[in-house]
Amino acid sequence: MNTVGEPQPARNQPPAISNAEVQRALDAILRDNLRQASLGLAILFGILAVNHQQLPEPARNVMIPLAGVTTLIFLGLYLLLRRYTLPLPWVNPLAGALAALILTNTFAHIYLTSDPLQTTNFVLLVIGLGFLMLSIWWFIGSLVVTVASWIVIVQLSPPDPAWRHFGFTLLSAIFLAIIVHFARVSGLKRQERLILEEERRQESLQTTLATTEATRRGLELTVIVAQSITSILNLDVLLNVIVEQIKKHYGYYYVGIFLLADNDRYIISRAGTGEAGRHLCETGFRLRVGEEGIIGWVAKHRQPAIVNDVTQDDRYVQVNAIPETQAELVLPLEVGGTLLGVLDLQSTQPNAFADEDVAVFRSLAAQVAIAIQNASIYESERARRLLAETLYDIGMALSQTLDRGKILELILNNLNEIVPYDRGSVMLRTGLDLEIVAARGFPPGTNFQTIRISIDRENDLFWHIYNNQEPLLIPDVSEWPSWVYVDDLPRAKSWLGVPLMLADEVIGMLSLARETATPYSEDEATLASAFGGQAAVALENARLYANVTQAYEQLERLDRTKSDFINVAAHELRTPLTTLRGYSQMLLNDPQVQSNVLHHQMVEGIYEGAIRLHEIVNSMLDMARIDSSTLQLHTRPVNLRLLIEKACHTLESIFEEREQTLVVNLPELPLVEADSNELLKVFQNLITNAIKYTPDGGAVTITGRAVPANEERLETAGVEIVVSDTGIGIAPEFQELIFTKFYQTGEVAVHSSSKTKFKGGGPGLGLAIAKGIVEAHGGHLWVESPGYDEQACPGSHFHVLLPLHFSTAAQQE
Ligand code: ADP
Repeated sequence: MNTVGEPQPARNQPPAISNAEVQRALDAILRDNLRQASLGLAILFGILAVNHQQLPEPARNVMIPLAGVTTLIFLGLYLLLRRYTLPLPWVNPLAGALAALILTNTFAHIYLTSDPLQTTNFVLLVIGLGFLMLSIWWFIGSLVVTVASWIVIVQLSPPDPAWRHFGFTLLSAIFLAIIVHFARVSGLKRQERLILEEERRQESLQTTLATTEATRRGLELTVIVAQSITSILNLDVLLNVIVEQIKKHYGYYYVGIFLLADNDRYIISRAGTGEAGRHLCETGFRLRVGEEGIIGWVAKHRQPAIVNDVTQDDRYVQVNAIPETQAELVLPLEVGGTLLGVLDLQSTQPNAFADEDVAVFRSLAAQVAIAIQNASIYESERARRLLAETLYDIGMALSQTLDRGKILELILNNLNEIVPYDRGSVMLRTGLDLEIVAARGFPPGTNFQTIRISIDRENDLFWHIYNNQEPLLIPDVSEWPSWVYVDDLPRAKSWLGVPLMLADEVIGMLSLARETATPYSEDEATLASAFGGQAAVALENARLYANVTQAYEQLERLDRTKSDFINVAAHELRTPLTTLRGYSQMLLNDPQVQSNVLHHQMVEGIYEGAIRLHEIVNSMLDMARIDSSTLQLHTRPVNLRLLIEKACHTLESIFEEREQTLVVNLPELPLVEADSNELLKVFQNLITNAIKYTPDGGAVTITGRAVPANEERLETAGVEIVVSDTGIGIAPEFQELIFTKFYQTGEVAVHSSSKTKFKGGGPGLGLAIAKGIVEAHGGHLWVESPGYDEQACPGSHFHVLLPLHFSTAAQQE
């Protein structure tokens, strides 16, 4: 394995050519020359063998076979050299041996003939050596041997001045041979050096070209990959496209991306090619940074790592899903000095990765890292926005219901959307106990109602949350000393507890558990807290609403009891009252009573009191009937003008008594389908009130009109009657209240008992009964008054609006 730093500079300068290399090139030339020379020499010695026929005996007997054998040796050598390539170190010794063979012939020839003229053969041999030999030492060696042989011959031969002459010729030949040798060798050396240099240059050029081509192709692919990823903003899609694109273009066995997680303690497989990739991501394959795998190493050291034989690297972790890996290249994914993760390339070929690949993939990794960062930023922004929207929606949903059961269901369902959990429960606090009021994700049949959790135990989870009023995150419950595993439940791995806060009070908690290894993050805790705030408000609203409803129901029950009592009491009172009225009337007509003024006055008082009481009891019965919706209406077409005139007629004497003016100003009105007895009570009440709350000398005016459909408060056509007075008026805040039963403005104690005196008292039922009757007819009764003022007397206007046609539906309303 080697760790690669910066990419190597390109090698443009080929290394220098050494002398040994040149010498080897020369030896190679000699080897070629030897082959050609051995053929030439074979032919030459063949001719010589024939030519040696002319030699005298005994030279001829020696020279012919010698030349013959030499011919055969050369011929054999030629054939061998054609067929086999002679190893270079043998080239010079062989050349020496050949020279020795020629020398032997030359030596024998001159020795046997003792003819100085044969020195010419030595001359030729010397020049030949100068030409053929390409190694200085072998050349000198063979030269020395040749000259020495000639000197030996001269010594052995009879003296002859010609030797001297040929000695000079030989000397000249030696010089010539040396010149030839050096000229040839230096020429060849120079030429070979050039050739070698050219070869080197070519070689280096090829390598550079190949590298450049690979880099170019790599960079081109980088651009393609980069282009195809920059526009993807979904992180998961992006990561998968990256790995698939790299695999497609570069053809590696496995390409994966790992991202840092869990406070950079782990590096987790986030995308990978093929089935293996899917498997690793689904199972949450992860490595400890700096401790496990080449990937963990790169994540710690933030340098690329090339491992060209994974079996030789002890950091390599064999992954079952990717069994055929031989070589691996891992690069850090960094943006602006921040490490996001690593890019992992694996090949089934050992030595698949070269240094040049690192340069290419570094550039790719840089672009991939930027794309990942962009997508992450976009995703987290989007997630934040989505969460804000979800929280808003949840808030809306929660605020739209006051049903506790529904709210609890909404809490558990919606919470799962923003902070996923496997098991969750909502707990509400009573004193120092928590009670589970709703749960989700528990096995069917789990009985929470019986579970009570105390928050009194020091250092317990719930104790912490209650006292700190903050969420509590437990990434690994096995590390929490007091964690209690509940039997029959799948084991929780991580847990999040959130307080439900209302102002400064913890009213309950949310408990969320995950069975997977993914722990809750701080972000999720914050979210759950925000959610908890809304949930707490919704639960509190539901509680308040439930309390109000309860109180209301209680009041209603009380009211019913009271109505029942009034009903019974009124019925009970009616019989004795009738008796009282009957007897007192008889007494009034009795002559004895009539003759005594005092007695007559007393009996008259009893009789009037009985009448008044009777009226009150009747009102109470009416009210009770209206309250219990048992008012029976016997409807027929009613002429309201006649009805009102009748009501006025019964009150004529009172108007006189109070010196009030009555103006009935009614046009011809359509008939109204109604119960005339009940309506009579309505108008009697209104007119009586008008008299009562108007000072002496005031005026009461009754007007009316036909009302078309959809005007005012009626959908159908109707009639409106207005009873106006010039009385004390009614303050706006009481204009609704006066229609509730037993309601009276002012103090009861100051009321006069007379039913028609100014501000005379009554049981406070008149308007309530009138409204009940009008509404039972499907109509409306209301008052309009500028306000209450006993001095200015702004007056009041009581409006009675009745539909022309009575419908039972209206009665039931
Ligand atoms: P009461 O038996 O007290 O008359 P009502 O139900 O008839 O009971 O009236 C309720 C209250 O409405 C009265 O006590 C009075 O304060 C007020 N009220 C009724 N009619 C008039 C009116 N025409 N002008 C001023 N106040 C009125």
